[in-house]
Amino acid sequence: MHAPASEAKLRSPGWKKDFGERLTRILGPDGVIYADDELIAYDCDALTGYRVKPLFVVLPRTSGEVSLVMKMCYDEDVPYVPRGAGTGLSGGALPAEEGIVISLSRMNRIIEVDIPNERVVAEPGVTNLSVTNAVSAYGYYYAPDPSSQIVCTIGGNVAENSGGVHCLKYGVTTNHVLGLEVILPDGEIIEIGGKTLDRPGYDLTGLMVGSEGLLGIVTRVTLRIVKKPETVKTLFASFDRIEEAGASVSGITARGVIPAGMEIMDNLCIRSVEEAVHAGYPVEAGSILLVELDGPAAEVEAQMPVVEEVLRENNALEIRIARDARERDLFWKGRKNAFPAMGRVSSDYYVQDGVIPRSRLAEVLGRIGELSREYDLRVGNVFHAGDGNLHPLVLYDSTKEGESERALELAGRILGVCVESGGSITGEHGVGNDKKRFLSLMFDENDLETMNLVRCAFDEKGLCNPGKVFPTPRTCVEQGMKPYAEHPLQKAGLGEMY
Ligand SMILES: Cc1cc2nc3c(=O)[nH]c(=O)nc-3n(C[C@H](O)[C@H](O)[C@H](O)COP(=O)(O)OP(=O)(O)OC[C@H]3O[C@@H](n4cnc5c(N)ncnc54)[C@H](O)[C@@H]3O)c2cc1C
Repeated sequence: MHAPASEAKLRSPGWKKDFGERLTRILGPDGVIYADDELIAYDCDALTGYRVKPLFVVLPRTSGEVSLVMKMCYDEDVPYVPRGAGTGLSGGALPAEEGIVISLSRMNRIIEVDIPNERVVAEPGVTNLSVTNAVSAYGYYYAPDPSSQIVCTIGGNVAENSGGVHCLKYGVTTNHVLGLEVILPDGEIIEIGGKTLDRPGYDLTGLMVGSEGLLGIVTRVTLRIVKKPETVKTLFASFDRIEEAGASVSGITARGVIPAGMEIMDNLCIRSVEEAVHAGYPVEAGSILLVELDGPAAEVEAQMPVVEEVLRENNALEIRIARDARERDLFWKGRKNAFPAMGRVSSDYYVQDGVIPRSRLAEVLGRIGELSREYDLRVGNVFHAGDGNLHPLVLYDSTKEGESERALELAGRILGVCVESGGSITGEHGVGNDKKRFLSLMFDENDLETMNLVRCAFDEKGLCNPGKVFPTPRTCVEQGMKPYAEHPLQKAGLGEMY
């Protein structure tokens, strides 16, 4: 096996200049970013506590260009990281030391809309929402809908196996990706899967989805689209206690109703969201549960009273059904803006992502409350309740001595509770750079070795997104998370977290 990419290679003094010139010959002068102040925009993803400035950023326009760049990197042992929109929350698109960023943002064309077969073929830099926009006029949409869907890319969604509010009923990204074009780390272009639902042989498409950019770069994706439902009804219910909202979620599914989405928010999140977007949420409530039913009108009409009954059994204070599409959008706008709105109540916060079995929601939420008191730090809860996918937001003040470290420790304890409850350390945000330290909570040495062998079968040199997912020192030198600080671009007023 070759030496891991993290072992810095000794290079001649003129190497960097020469490498940059060769990249420019492939991509043209506007296809390579060298300038320090421009490279800053690529030194982290949305988890800004980890930052590494890349050597270069390249902006290919075709699969052929991606392949040539990767081949150059392979021949010269240069590590690289693929990047979509950089909205990842686990430091997945963090550059490698002495490495380059391959940004797929210019590969943003929808190649084919195939309505009779209910498929869309897209380049990786297409945003999630653009897929729905491309098929909406035909009565279709793309179901996985991360809250970041207006900017995050299909390539990033594939790498993270992203979820969203409608994934409870319709499944996450892996259930909607049928085929891929992938460039392997040595530059070879391969096609896996296709437009049909099942193919003989190993499910390499399934392996690639959720592989966090460690096995190659996705340059084309064949997606399944679904017909818009005949009827959609959205409601929210408010409760005194978040545990009552959690119990309602299990109660609804136990009665055989699978809503399109079920989302919970606690009081801290309700207050900040209300202030930011005025969604009409009751600010005094301990928590709210959003429920969306969709399908044939008769089915939705039959299910609504069942849902309302469960909510009342769990002491709902108020149940409000959206009267029209405008009000429905407003209910969701509140939920989709929950992360950025949290900036109003705390200068610093750390978004976690863990999963638990749905039946243990009430108990685990109680444990998170206890841990929050133990650490004397506020924790806001907003999450995909139907999937058991929690997003605790640990609030802290980085100017107070030791508080950042306490926040990181508390977030880790919460993930520990998720695992003890039969869940996982990540639901949809990936392991990335951030959560590799927790992977051994779930896997022993043998498991990790086996996973690493799969990775080596694709990337024997460890050049493709090194330092991610696997606990170190397996493949690279660990880069610690610094306390959160405003990114230089935010400080300069040139960028903001939306
Ligand atoms: C406000 C906010 C809300 C969010 N809500 C959700 C949510 O509801 N659900 C959810 O799942 N996530 C959510 N996220 C996280 C994030 O948006 C998703 O993980 C998204 O899929 C990342 O897409 P991206 O294009 O930004 O990828 P990036 O952040 O650029 O990259 C993510 C990972 O994918 C790899 N990658 C990118 N493109 C490719 C490619 N073409 N080939 C191979 N690897 C590639 C990168 O190397 C990196 O490891 C949220 C983030 C924010 C900031």
